Amino acid sequence: MPFYTYLCATEDCCDYCQNGFSILQRINAEPVLYCPECGYKVKKVISAPNVVSGKAHLTTDKTAQQKGFTKYKRAGKGVYEKTAGKGPKYISGD
Ligand SMILES: [Zn+2]
Repeated sequence: MPFYTYLCATEDCCDYCQNGFSILQRINAEPVLYCPECGYKVKKVISAPNVVSGKAHLTTDKTAQQKGFTKYKRAGKGVYEKTAGKGPKYISGD
């Protein structure tokens, strides 16, 4: 079972959730919505990379490059700028 890390989502948080807390949960478990200490809202944050898998994985520019992908972001109308990998720095979408 992976650990999930939660962090306070409001400014009215206690010491416990201010720095984030981790709990062991089943993958399909309901997310924790409120801090068990102060009762204010918390939000789930991505913790250790080894608990992130499959479709939920967020590909960063660095990992995209390591995997040999070339990544482009939209830089303007019909123009894309390369952010990772090999290839031309700019491509045109036209
Ligand atoms: Zn709290």
